[in-house]
Amino acid sequence: MAATIEIEDMITVGTLAEKLMIPVSRLIAELMKNGVMVTVNEQIDFDTAQIIVEELGLDFSLQKQAKAEAPLLSHKKVASENAQSRPPVVAVMGHVDHGKTTLLDVIRGTDVAKREAGGITQHISAYQVEHKGRKITFLDTPGHEAFAAIREHGAHLTDIAIVVVAADDGIKPQTIEAIRFARKAGVRIIVAINKIDKTGANVERVKQQLSEQKLLVEEWGGDTIALEMSAKTGKGVNELLDMILLVADVDNLRADTDVPARGLIIESHVEQGRGPIANGLIEEGILRQGDFVVAGATYAKLRNLESSNGKPLQAASPSTPVVMSGFKVLPEFGEEFSVAKDEKVARSMAEKRSNEGTLTGRTKGMTSNEFLRMIKRDNETNELDVVIKADTQGSLTSVIDSLKTLDNDEVMVRIVGSGIGSITENDLYLAHASNAIVYGFNVTMQSNVKHLASRQKVIVRLFDIIYELIDDVREDLKALLSPTIVKTELGRLLVRAIFKTTKSEVICGGEVTKGKLTLPALATVMRGDDVLAEVEILGLKRGPTEVKEVLEKEMCGVNFKTTHKLELQEGDRLEFFRRESVARSLVI
Ligand code: GDP
Repeated sequence: MAATIEIEDMITVGTLAEKLMIPVSRLIAELMKNGVMVTVNEQIDFDTAQIIVEELGLDFSLQKQAKAEAPLLSHKKVASENAQSRPPVVAVMGHVDHGKTTLLDVIRGTDVAKREAGGITQHISAYQVEHKGRKITFLDTPGHEAFAAIREHGAHLTDIAIVVVAADDGIKPQTIEAIRFARKAGVRIIVAINKIDKTGANVERVKQQLSEQKLLVEEWGGDTIALEMSAKTGKGVNELLDMILLVADVDNLRADTDVPARGLIIESHVEQGRGPIANGLIEEGILRQGDFVVAGATYAKLRNLESSNGKPLQAASPSTPVVMSGFKVLPEFGEEFSVAKDEKVARSMAEKRSNEGTLTGRTKGMTSNEFLRMIKRDNETNELDVVIKADTQGSLTSVIDSLKTLDNDEVMVRIVGSGIGSITENDLYLAHASNAIVYGFNVTMQSNVKHLASRQKVIVRLFDIIYELIDDVREDLKALLSPTIVKTELGRLLVRAIFKTTKSEVICGGEVTKGKLTLPALATVMRGDDVLAEVEILGLKRGPTEVKEVLEKEMCGVNFKTTHKLELQEGDRLEFFRRESVARSLVI
């Protein structure tokens, strides 16, 4: 008898694979085959799970677990009576190009130039702004990837999700994804209907589409907060910030400060001369310079504690984004950090975790941001699927941003996975499951991974110059562009006599009145202005001789193939042409 597995209404792909005791890549591949594009950390519903288990032919039967699902919000520690109020933590989400980055930039104001230092967008992951004398923390998640990453790991530290919807484009797959995520995480949603300055903006349509997602705006009798704005002109941005503070007040956001500091690593990279640097967001407690911080299997003595804009800090309170240095090894994105009593405790905690081989905040053995993917766009674009690995978050973002600029109406790059660090077996499994090419920027690949790549026939390309990587992708995209079909006119024959007509072939004779006839060729059969047929020329004869070419004013015989019986008459015309496909190039 089949073993029974109990699952809840929704289950993450990773957990389901674990329960079914199969590799997650196999489950993802099966889901993809069935048109369900999900990553390891994404959830599928019970019915989908059941169908997939059947498709896989596994000897398991699924049963719904009695309802016990609490919203993710419960991850948040319940604050005690002594808790202090804290700034709201806000994530900006939405479909690509709907204006998330522009909104974050406009809110951030004067700091943008600094951030763009050296021409490379420096991702600082989170920052605080002051509005009306109060602080608001924004998770800076401009790219899809970072967004999806925060979506997974930042769930329990986000209080408010701003779902940006471009008024001229309406709700799109990623908007729906964002709404679903925010709901699941128990996060407050504020809808920012953006780009209202654009012609073609249709606010009412967006509201209608929101209602289809069960988000009924206030004026339609619901309780969804939707604000109209333009990130470009700045209109409505202050109102949005006001609304964030209002929602924060209603929720009475508080955190304990008299407990050991704890939080989440939201970005990490190695900086020349400074070693591993980790950006974190404090959830509770006060983090102080000199503290011993454990993050996953590594720890640091915080000789330097900085704010997200590089100012030295003595101490930082809940909801504050901080930059920490002094780690022995780079902590990973999504890991929890906490303060230990002293170095000895910190070291032993880190060692214990290292031995256990489990990193907090992650599905066992899987690095989730390596498995992020973007939802397939619902158009007919040809997509080049890629997995991107880079040495730092900054360079990863630069590669992804550059690749985004290669997209056009016909072809686009779809990033099925990305992450920091060398190329791993998981990257290959993902690439294999989605037929993607793996691109590595400034990263390496161990020999066992190389072997796996050749066994699985996964293409891996390593680069250390960004432009070369981008050029390589561009070449691949070019190959996806459907060639342009060019019609070249050759010459015209005036039919003077019909020698033979069958169901599939006609032999006639006539005079070349224009251009020259050459082979191979097709011809349009014309009677006056009417097109009678398009036919394939089989041969040309001058007198009894087969020829390849007949010039203007010459007489010749022509035989051609038809798909149906054609009653050719004297005076009809055959307009000879050739169809050629011309390879296209991407003009970027
Ligand atoms: P993201 O992909 O969601 O981060 O979108 P971006 O912020 O990169 O914006 C995509 C494009 O839309 C950019 O060219 C922006 O300049 C433009 N954009 C963003 N907000 C507005 C707006 O309110 N009005 C207009 N007209 N354009 C906007």
